[in-house]
Amino acid sequence: MTTEQNISLKPFHFFASEEKCNFFTRIQNTSQVHESIKWCNENKYPILFIGSGSNVLFTQNFVGLIAKMEIMGIKKLNETASSLILEVGAGENWHHFVSYCVQKGWGGLENLSLIPGTVGASPIQNIGAYGVEVQECIQSINAYDTLNNTWITLPNKDCAFGYRTSLFKQVPNRYIITHVEFILHKQPKLRTDYGAIRDVLHDKGIKNPSLENVAAAVVEIRTNKLPDPKKLGNAGSFFKNPIISKDQFEVLDKNFPTMVAYPISNFEYKIAAGWLIEAAGWKGIRKGNVGCYEKQALVIVSYGIVSGKEIFDFSEEIIHSVYEKFKVTLEREVNVY
Ligand code: FAD
Ligand code: NAP
Repeated sequence: MTTEQNISLKPFHFFASEEKCNFFTRIQNTSQVHESIKWCNENKYPILFIGSGSNVLFTQNFVGLIAKMEIMGIKKLNETASSLILEVGAGENWHHFVSYCVQKGWGGLENLSLIPGTVGASPIQNIGAYGVEVQECIQSINAYDTLNNTWITLPNKDCAFGYRTSLFKQVPNRYIITHVEFILHKQPKLRTDYGAIRDVLHDKGIKNPSLENVAAAVVEIRTNKLPDPKKLGNAGSFFKNPIISKDQFEVLDKNFPTMVAYPISNFEYKIAAGWLIEAAGWKGIRKGNVGCYEKQALVIVSYGIVSGKEIFDFSEEIIHSVYEKFKVTLEREVNVY
């Protein structure tokens, strides 16, 4: 294991703010996971494993070791007439992996095209888009359990997957994911129920879409609507869509009939956080070098040199303002350090 000292974190996270860490290392095999944890235990430093840094916000220097996950490899474990199981290294780029599956004709992940990040981070918040969550294709997770100092394989049912959450998000830093096993389908049922996908396919005159058509539609929608992190620092949706009770929904719906909301059970509704933020007047608002993105209010962007603390403070203002207007508390989706 090689460690570098006093390293700027700027190249390692999408907000690209200027915070630093004391030590930095790259993890390219499972032994290095164990070695880096042992080194931190012996030296009494905290350790944080990251992927590509597309969902983190550093509000201060990290006093400890940042370990960047770079374990690679895609291995076929099993194949039948209808499906196959792949074991994928945590450091693989998510979109490259999805594109690889789409090219091979293996379905299940196409709606998750163009989500930034690594394969190893995908289960952490159970990434989701356009009606699909990654948990639907996860068979099991290989991880190092830092509490019991042991390697484990967690089957899907033990990962506590929920809406943008999982066991790994609920108990942060305990499980270090090294490989994810996916189940993919050779005759997939395509999911085109989200309006944006339907519209693109309709505009192109595609009545019976292929796997490639759906993936291409998602790439097109996302490219048009979301900021390019290479040009504007951002972490995608900064907040989760709040889940509220049916009673609270009915009161809000009466006062704000244009509010975007979807029932998720007989008792709860999911409210589009982007709508709440926009209705509270934040869309396109900029303060210094941090702002609320003009095309999608759920995304906070950095326009240049800015500290993580300024981004965090800006998000606090949004949370307060949305609460004042709607009595709904927004929760950050981004992982704050
Ligand atoms: P990082 O940001 O590096 O890490 C995220 C968290 O996971 C951190 O807490 C880190 O400690 C932990 N972690 C990372 N790797 C490991 C590992 N191997 N083992 C243990 N812990 C680990 N998300 C969605 O769900 N849907 C979307 O549609 C979506 N769109 C986005 C669009 C944009 C433009 C951006 C910038 C982000 C978007 N995101 C979306 C959020 C983000 O892409 C995902 O959360 C992604 O999975 C993060 O991957 P990462 O490798 O960058 O993780
Ligand atoms: P959108 O299509 O404008 O929709 C606004 C919100 O309404 C979304 O958050 C979505 O919830 C919900 N929604 C829309 N159609 C729905 C349906 N048919 N059934 C249930 N819920 C519905 O959203 P967007 O901002 O352009 O994003 C499109 C998709 O990409 C969404 O799924 C979103 O989650 C995902 N995305 C996520 C991130 C991130 O960082 N997490 C960033 C960009 C985009 P859901 O969010 O639950 O789907």
